[in-house]
Amino acid sequence: MKDLKLTSPSVISSLIEEYDFKFSKSLGQNFLADENILRKIIDSALLNSEDMVLEIGPGIGALTFAISNIVNKVVAVEIDKSLIPILDKVLKNRDNVSVIHGDILKIDLKKLEETYFQKKPFKVVANLPYYITSPIIMTLLESNLNIDLMVFTVQKEVAQRLTALPGNKDYGAITVAINYYCQAEIITYISRNVFIPKPNVDSAVVRLIVREQPPVKLKDEALFFNLVKTVFKYRRKTLLNALSHGLEFKDKDHLENLLINVGIDPMRRGETLSIEEFAIISNRIKSV
Ligand code: SAM
Repeated sequence: MKDLKLTSPSVISSLIEEYDFKFSKSLGQNFLADENILRKIIDSALLNSEDMVLEIGPGIGALTFAISNIVNKVVAVEIDKSLIPILDKVLKNRDNVSVIHGDILKIDLKKLEETYFQKKPFKVVANLPYYITSPIIMTLLESNLNIDLMVFTVQKEVAQRLTALPGNKDYGAITVAINYYCQAEIITYISRNVFIPKPNVDSAVVRLIVREQPPVKLKDEALFFNLVKTVFKYRRKTLLNALSHGLEFKDKDHLENLLINVGIDPMRRGETLSIEEFAIISNRIKSV
């Protein structure tokens, strides 16, 4: 059973037929049907026999099965109840796999970490359901879990947003947030043709290596993220206008002086600021 090809279109069709499974568009169900891409995803997670892996949305278990051939333990969280019997069949006799029926955004992740990974470092691998990509990534990052690496298949445009540089049109609040927690890189682009059913968008595999320390020291993390969100909410405005508007600075002159004092031109657009510059501004606002 070590080489069961769950990416084979004929295997996918026969499982679907056997269990009378109906694809749900609203749950982002597009199953990977290409063994080479599956290998690329797995290789990019740099897996070894000691690893413990959380998988989100196993579907019919193609990634789950392949990952479980390599690592110590896989925990897979699947929201769709009708996939559970398929996963039970495909993963039968795999004593290093646990399938949890649940919603990754509602599950108690701290409890899952404690129960299955004993709070030791783990990796996350997922072909994400595209309707909730950002909430899933941000929830994982903000839940203070012991994750060291994440590999996600996401919509191509999202991958570009996660890895954009300042000044680029794709650079936004999520880019800064990801960069605060991780080093992000695009591993490869994937055609929409390798999924069943075929989605309306192309995809990309991204690898996020979680930083041991954030790249900037913050006096107030909440203020920093609020500042970043505000700046991108008003991305067409100058930095001075965006901040005086969004952060409701009563004294605009004071804000202008603050920016000049830290060496940042108040007339710049916020979307050109690096994470270091965001940190400088938020730390200065905090010490006022
Ligand atoms: N991993 C499989 C593959 O690569 O072929 C399936 C990937 S498919 C793009 C996304 C999967 O996520 C589906 O199985 C879907 O049912 C599941 N899913 C959607 N929303 C979810 C949620 N909130 N929590 C857990 N799983 C979810």
